[in-house]
Amino acid sequence: MRCPVCGSFDDKVVDSRQSEDGTSIRRRRACLGCQRRFTTFERLEEVPLLVVKRSGDREPFDAAKVVSGLAAATKGRPVDPAQLEELTAAVEERLRAEGPEVASNEVGRAVLEALRGLDVVAAVRFASVYKEFDDLADFERELTELTHSALIKATEPKRH
Ligand SMILES: [Zn+2]
Repeated sequence: MRCPVCGSFDDKVVDSRQSEDGTSIRRRRACLGCQRRFTTFERLEEVPLLVVKRSGDREPFDAAKVVSGLAAATKGRPVDPAQLEELTAAVEERLRAEGPEVASNEVGRAVLEALRGLDVVAAVRFASVYKEFDDLADFERELTELTHSALIKATEPKRH
């Protein structure tokens, strides 16, 4: 790091401290040219996850939007709101691994898949309100599949 006083490129780190929330590291450095001390901050570079819509427009992934969509789909269902946050975080992480850009229908599909593991009825609802599928056939197949498995579950004989 170039010394702000004398311009020397030689310094040594004399102290290194992590911020309380762990998102940055503060380093005290001593210039080897003029002995002055200065501070640098190190922070994770945040790469935005972009959602590509059918129109070709891009918008940043909005976790709050996903959570509110999930909240609507799980209304009255035995699902904890904290589970929705967790599910959304897991989906975002998965999409980031594929990102930095993902298609909007991939987002819907990833959420749907995750929701299916949580609550089948809510997944059917979500599928029926989620209009972002690029391919209508996919959407219908998904819905039929979900409805089918929900029916099987509902008609399963009770075990005593
Ligand atoms: Zn210096």
